[in-house]
Amino acid sequence: MIKPDAVEANNTGKIIDMIIDAGFSIKAMKLTHLTKGEAETFYAVHKERPFYGELVDYMTSGPIVAAILEKSNAVEDFRKLIGATDPAEAAEGTIRKQFAESKAKNAVHGSDSDENAEIESNFHFSEREIVG
Ligand code: ADP
Ligand code: MG
Repeated sequence: MIKPDAVEANNTGKIIDMIIDAGFSIKAMKLTHLTKGEAETFYAVHKERPFYGELVDYMTSGPIVAAILEKSNAVEDFRKLIGATDPAEAAEGTIRKQFAESKAKNAVHGSDSDENAEIESNFHFSEREIVG
């Protein structure tokens, strides 16, 4: 996902360019606005964390871009491309280093395992919205 802060700041195109330049292909993509219930479900794994309420408010504060990306070793390579959760710790050349405002408003989401990538893909897209 390209998160609300990055969509609002008109960084969507630049972020998609970086993703394509890094060798990912786009299998599905859409602009959407998560409801509170959708954000709560998507981030349910974090519901005991102190920042959960803030995270749900942020993720519903404006439109997001959801996408399914394909590449060999996609999960690990995408996490490398986006950088650390906190932009202060993100490596030079990463998306979060360049576009994240803070640890909370950090521009992009990437799945953390193949299993979660499948769950999250199915959360955002139906089978007929996925190319190939
Ligand atoms: P990542 O997105 O890098 O996988 P996490 O899964 O740990 O990071 O956290 C999910 C999201 O919750 C983060 O991307 C960020 O938007 C938000 N978040 C994480 N830690 C904090 C925090 N300490 N305070 C506020 N928001 C946070
Ligand atoms: Mg995570």
